[in-house]
Amino acid sequence: MSGTFPASSTNLTTLAQLQDAGLLAQDLDPTLTQVAQRYAIGLTPHMANLIDRSNAADPIGAQFIPSPKELHTLEVEILDPIDDAGFSPLPGLVHRYSDRVLLKVVSVCPVYCRFCFRREMVGPGGPNLTRADLAAAIAYIAAHPEIFEVILTGGDPFMLSPRRVGELTQALAAIEHVKIVRWHTRVPIVDPDRVTPAFIETLKAPEIATWVAIHANHAQEFSKEAQSCVRSLADAGIALVSQSVLLKGINDNLEALQDLMRMFFGLGIKPYYLHHPDLAPGTSHFRLPIKKGQALMRALRKTMSGLAQPTYVLDIPGGAFKAPLETPHVREASTGLQLLDGKGVWHDYKG
Ligand SMILES: *Cc1c(COP(=O)(O)O)cnc(C)c1O
Ligand code: SF4
Repeated sequence: MSGTFPASSTNLTTLAQLQDAGLLAQDLDPTLTQVAQRYAIGLTPHMANLIDRSNAADPIGAQFIPSPKELHTLEVEILDPIDDAGFSPLPGLVHRYSDRVLLKVVSVCPVYCRFCFRREMVGPGGPNLTRADLAAAIAYIAAHPEIFEVILTGGDPFMLSPRRVGELTQALAAIEHVKIVRWHTRVPIVDPDRVTPAFIETLKAPEIATWVAIHANHAQEFSKEAQSCVRSLADAGIALVSQSVLLKGINDNLEALQDLMRMFFGLGIKPYYLHHPDLAPGTSHFRLPIKKGQALMRALRKTMSGLAQPTYVLDIPGGAFKAPLETPHVREASTGLQLLDGKGVWHDYKG
């Protein structure tokens, strides 16, 4: 690891900045210019400092440094893989499941993941909600008493200022039927300095439970600062869950997954979802066979605490459902039901 940037420097958002940082070769692959035109680039100095430049397959670098492979788009890859648009009653809202809505307040992220499932929507030029849009979205939530939970996403909603986060929290907490406000973010890991004590205070309100879902894909992402940021959120009484993507060449082996889940678990973050990568354009180099993911999940289940297990899921293309992908541990045989143990042996169940 090489600490090359002071924490105060600005994000790396161009090919030239990545070259200057030693993260891309000086003789640039010309096709990268096309990649950069199509998909946003972003890397925080904090994350850049954690990349091992001597390792071409560094698990952090591979998540954020653009690759010519992104120009390879398969026919099955679609712009809005889970059809957010089809379930959107108003700008910024996605209401697919009746008791919860997604509220997308910003399109920017602190980093731009090369495998992002919303990669055609996120970026600095993307649509940010206007004040009027946001007021309309809040009015929609207030008018729908079945909505128990509001999930702030984007982009990354922790990119908002503490003032705007506070306004949002207060507006949602004032709606009688909203009991849970959940924020999906990468900021505590990739830019922990943003999460100040004042910022944490703005997430809380007595009428709601605040949950934060933290996105990370490799244990190496957790700097000392990131770990202490997570502890501050937990100390403030905020419930923490994890969200990761199973990525070929980055975390698709038992050791990397164990280290990642133990890192979450050890910091008081309950492992929640391990997503199979969606069919986002130009991301086939990150996808592995579902069968391989299932085998990894069986191995995790054998070797780690139940509390450290994520649920392996895939959003069905078109957005029909977030389908759990684990292989069943119960089956119907001619003698009745059978249950599968960790060694792969089926046992008759006589109950
Ligand atoms: C995944 C998703 C949610 C959240 O689902 P949980 O299973 O509650 O985490 C909500 N809305 C949409 C549209 C989603 O895709
Ligand atoms: S932080 Fe999330 S929304 Fe932003 S680029 Fe990464 S995966 Fe996409």
